[in-house]
Amino acid sequence: MARWQHVIGASRLLDPASGVDGPGELWIRNDVIHTVSAVGAPPPEAVLPDDVVEVIDSAGLLVTPMFVDIHVHLREPGGEEHETIRSGTASALRGGYALVYTMPNTKPTCDAPERIAHVDRLAAEAGDVEVVSVSALSRGLQGEALVDLEAMAAAGAGGFSDDGAWLADERLAREALRWAGRNDVLVMQHCEDFQMTGPGVLHECDCVQRRGLPGIPRESEDRAVERDIRLAEAENARLHVCHVSTAGAVDAIRRAQERGLPVTGEVTPHHLVLTAEDAVANGPDWKMKPPLREQEDVDALVQALADGTLGAVATDHAPHSDERKAGGFIEAPFGAIGMETAFPILFTQLVEGGTLPLERLVDSLTAGPCAIVRREPPRIAPGAPARLNWIDLETPRNVEREALVSRSHNCPFHGLTLRGWPVAALLGGTLRTHFGGEPVRIRTNGA
Ligand SMILES: [Zn+2]
Ligand SMILES: [Zn+2]
Repeated sequence: MARWQHVIGASRLLDPASGVDGPGELWIRNDVIHTVSAVGAPPPEAVLPDDVVEVIDSAGLLVTPMFVDIHVHLREPGGEEHETIRSGTASALRGGYALVYTMPNTKPTCDAPERIAHVDRLAAEAGDVEVVSVSALSRGLQGEALVDLEAMAAAGAGGFSDDGAWLADERLAREALRWAGRNDVLVMQHCEDFQMTGPGVLHECDCVQRRGLPGIPRESEDRAVERDIRLAEAENARLHVCHVSTAGAVDAIRRAQERGLPVTGEVTPHHLVLTAEDAVANGPDWKMKPPLREQEDVDALVQALADGTLGAVATDHAPHSDERKAGGFIEAPFGAIGMETAFPILFTQLVEGGTLPLERLVDSLTAGPCAIVRREPPRIAPGAPARLNWIDLETPRNVEREALVSRSHNCPFHGLTLRGWPVAALLGGTLRTHFGGEPVRIRTNGA
């Protein structure tokens, strides 16, 4: 006897990569999408009289594949006061994510195969959100000796990065890229020339200088991106640039792609909608790496996301306790959380603002990131595991810091009224509704 779920009543099914866009219904058999059908179409012939059919009434919501974030910090092991794998994956689920890539700057660093196994175990205990470990490039993120790249790849590393630090040593970076190129694995660089960053805490510009704060120039990022593209080209390697924040870095990536190089980039929600002026006007929750830049950079990033130069939105979800963020601009650590607000902030400010088509936003959270890491994305297509989001594009809801599921609250969007909230997800065979509501009605008929 099979278990079916029949998804009806959606305003729109949207999975651009699968060519799905419009009203329709889904038939899911034993947690696998069986049929994408027209509204009111008869049941598939495979539905037998004894089968159980749950009807999921979608109440006019948008249905998309669940999202993928290729850059988050779940902090465990070693940073459990800020986030754990359990709290971080709960936050991911609330934001609509089925799969996240967690960065290696934990304590200890993810630089040995047993560390990946440990994260895998914790993630399996935590629930159904899949967690892939990104391995460090260098041992202890010290930039002095490479990890055992082969052993880490064999242990399941989804990519390699010294995120938080930049592998500045050119000889080592070249060696890593050479190995990565030969073995077709992905190097994900946090591109920052720390000599140029110096003591900087926010973007180098007039408004930051007027506050008497040390700035981080665009060149800190631009030069690192250009160097890494040069090395990746020489070594025939795939290079992924993390959290692109400057118009110059966008240009460098675009030129590399025009030359046919396998160079990709991601952009965070905060870099797409906030500037250095917002940081100065607000506080340390707006302090992140790279720093919030200026409007001309924001415009270049939105354009690059719209035209596909930047293939993925990644949140760089970086939880820090209130205590640590209370230290003021100089003392507070860099980073903001982002998974729970990613879709609503970008939907409200960019899609409704008319600068980004909804199809591009959904693609940059699903097939886009998966193409970068070479994973099969969540899809709305026959044969795909059922990993679906229900999203309410109409009802406004405030971002309430204390209501966030993440263990940390360092969110630069609190107080904003947004639309586009994920309100339910189907993952691992279980339909979960968020915010305690029941926007998706389930009826069971059949047998
Ligand atoms: Zn980084
Ligand atoms: Zn990061």
